Amino acid sequence: MSGFDQKSIARGADAARRTGEVRVILSPEKGRRPGLRVLSQSTRVFVVEDKLVHPVREIQELVIKLGAQISGTSEAANVIVTSIRAPKRLLKHISREDSEDKYVVNPEWILDSAERAVMMDPDDYLAFKSSKEHVFHLPMKRGRTPDTEVESGMPGPSTSSASATRPPRPWRDTRYACERPSPLQCINQGLVDELEVIRRERELTGDEFSKMAYMRALSAIKAYPYDLSKNPSQASKLTGVGSKIGKLAEQYYEKGCIIEAKIIRRDKAIQTMIAFNELYGVGPTAARDAYNEGCRTLEDVIKKGKSLGTHLTRSESLRILPDLQSKIPRPEVEAIAHLISRMMEKIIPGCQHTICGGYRRGKPESSDVDIVYTHPDNRHNKAALHRLLDDLRREGIVTHIVSVTTPGLDEDSTNVHVDVAQIVVLPPISPLTPNPRHRRVDIIFCPFSVYGAAVLGWTGSHIFERDLRIFCRKEGYKFSFTGVTRLSDGKVLDTPTEREIFELFKLEWMPPEWRNCDA
Ligand code: ATP
Ligand code: MG
Ligand code: MN
Repeated sequence: MSGFDQKSIARGADAARRTGEVRVILSPEKGRRPGLRVLSQSTRVFVVEDKLVHPVREIQELVIKLGAQISGTSEAANVIVTSIRAPKRLLKHISREDSEDKYVVNPEWILDSAERAVMMDPDDYLAFKSSKEHVFHLPMKRGRTPDTEVESGMPGPSTSSASATRPPRPWRDTRYACERPSPLQCINQGLVDELEVIRRERELTGDEFSKMAYMRALSAIKAYPYDLSKNPSQASKLTGVGSKIGKLAEQYYEKGCIIEAKIIRRDKAIQTMIAFNELYGVGPTAARDAYNEGCRTLEDVIKKGKSLGTHLTRSESLRILPDLQSKIPRPEVEAIAHLISRMMEKIIPGCQHTICGGYRRGKPESSDVDIVYTHPDNRHNKAALHRLLDDLRREGIVTHIVSVTTPGLDEDSTNVHVDVAQIVVLPPISPLTPNPRHRRVDIIFCPFSVYGAAVLGWTGSHIFERDLRIFCRKEGYKFSFTGVTRLSDGKVLDTPTEREIFELFKLEWMPPEWRNCDA
């Protein structure tokens, strides 16, 4: 580590504590390194100069050396470093809101982090006792809000899915998520949730490389069926978990949380971007851009009003946002699928369907409904989905069409005609939906010859799908929900069932309930 390693920093930190000099810590630097990753880029520090014993520049440089960022204003920071002990005096330098909402710590936090080469818990370094209790329990992923309970007796995770049954095979340390039975909730779920907080932060801040590392690690831990609290050092031995995330796992079992995740959970900027990202047509990048351009409320984002590639405008999306944010319980997923299938049956009698997505994986609640349709007789296929949309419109069930595409005919695709409609429905009033809400529905119509691929491709989870694609390339195939292509001759193979695809790829069958490889 080119003349500037953690040991020398630790020595320096120790010296600094004795002499009050931070420069000692920074001195033996040669070539530039972006930082030691003791702190993290998700930590944005504002240093208040007043009363500081050390020169402010040196504290700032140390923060950067440790891998965090320096903010020019307290508003942009999520941690404020100060030697001031009187809240009133601090208010001369930062707003009351910042002093109450953000971590306000003394410089020892940085010095100790440098010395121990781990991010210390800011709660142990608070500059003064805050009068306000901080509880930021905003969900870090799309709609984790458990606001709808699964009705008892209905198939929830406890009755229908894997958590009640045994995994299809014993655990093995494998590289591909599609080979690992992964339950809905795992024995080390607390750690997985913490890593997901950091993964999500990386996604929103555009750190693709780090995001992938957290994704791989949390997915490996998701499949690990033994209690890591009994042996935390085991985490770093799993394929996909490096020593860095392994250390965080140990921290989790030692402290009950990962400190970086704790800072992120309380980070208003991240929470704001998450809120933007919940709007339709606002991806992680757009959410970040909007924030950086000064947007702070959903209305701000709407006003920016960049045109969207969908027919569901941002302002419409905002209007129905509370509906779209609320999760869909399994019985309602089934009711919506039933409603749509009845209409489809009238258009092409004898059609078949599978409710895919999280529902098929046993999730008690879904954020949308994914239904794949097919018909054994190919003559029916082409116009089926468009006729269905006409009928749904006529009945007033569809309120918005997000998009209608035929991805199978895209360049770089299989040339198999598959139609995909992404819509918003408002189910009629019924005993199951006495107060109907707008619900997102994905409807796929495919030829019978690729039905297995379509069902497999729309069941997820995302990480399962991702590794499935990588896995099958290795076996000489390209997988898409529009069909399986043999790479040697470009032939699209008949795959009417999922099982045939697993056999083709020499992949052991994975029941849908065990494909929950995401957090
Ligand atoms: P939930 O809907 O409850 O959030 P989910 O797992 O059903 O969870 P979806 O976003 O509905 O999440 O996606 C289900 C699966 O469908 C994904 O795993 C993905 O493989 C596939 N999928 C979703 N959108 C597309 C798309 N535009 N093109 C191809 N496949 C897609
Ligand atoms: Mg879904
Ligand atoms: Mn979907």
